[in-house]
Amino acid sequence: MAKTAIITGGSRGIGEAMALKLGELGYNVVINYRSESSKVLSDNLAEKIAKEYKVETLVVKADVSKYEDCEALVNKTVEKFGDKISVLVNNAGITNNCNWIDITKEQYENVINTNLMSFLHMTHLVLPYMINHSSKEDQCNIVNTSSVGGLTGVINQADYCASKSGIIGLTRALALEFASRGVRVNAIAPGMIMTDMLRGVNQDELNALAATIPEGFIGDVSDIAGALGYLLTAPYMTGQVISPNGGFVLQ
Ligand code: NAP
Repeated sequence: MAKTAIITGGSRGIGEAMALKLGELGYNVVINYRSESSKVLSDNLAEKIAKEYKVETLVVKADVSKYEDCEALVNKTVEKFGDKISVLVNNAGITNNCNWIDITKEQYENVINTNLMSFLHMTHLVLPYMINHSSKEDQCNIVNTSSVGGLTGVINQADYCASKSGIIGLTRALALEFASRGVRVNAIAPGMIMTDMLRGVNQDELNALAATIPEGFIGDVSDIAGALGYLLTAPYMTGQVISPNGGFVLQ
């Protein structure tokens, strides 16, 4: 029987590529999204994964910055696929890109609630469905999307960097707490990847950004999906942060 994987923010961008990777690896995939405009995207993605990889899918609209929405997401998963959740990919994220004088409390709270609190909520709610089933031979996995912004500072991204560094702390602590119970917890810290998050930037700025990357180009979502595939199939990896970033940040 196929195992179950949940991905938050799975409708587009990096999340879409990771949802496809989960299907390719044979998981039943629960795709979460938040915006009404992403419903069709998510439904089409679910259909594509089911058809291509012969697994089952479930699409759940939920604002993961809210605990009660996370509860509903987990409950719907358990109702459809049973009480073993093998993989949780925490990926939903937003950014403000605003200086620390003009930014409002509402704006930075939204970033922290979406990027960090959602990861706390989801791990808190999903881990009970992992630890009762996992073992050394049949590990469960949590993979958290951080960012190079969590490894280094970025101007006008104080709230974003705080959230992404927080994710790394959460990853390391949970990895230690659950290592002996068959749950591995790792993070991926992408560098600059071409998604809607970067599509608002004009071509000149993109060229300038690319010039700051030692490899000289902006990454693709497949670079991050590949890292996910590796982490899910690497039994000796836990508490680690891997950062596909073209040499932009060296750890
Ligand atoms: P994106 O294309 O803007 O996609 C963001 C995803 O997050 C969408 O699926 C969106 O759902 C979802 N989301 C946002 N707020 C949510 C909420 N409250 N509840 C549920 N879902 C929510 O961004 P991306 O570039 O793929 O980013 C994905 C992750 O990678 C983020 O955590 C981001 O910080 C991280 N990252 C990205 C880059 C980059 O260069 N692109 C670099 C480093 C890290 P809707 O479609 O419903 O809005």
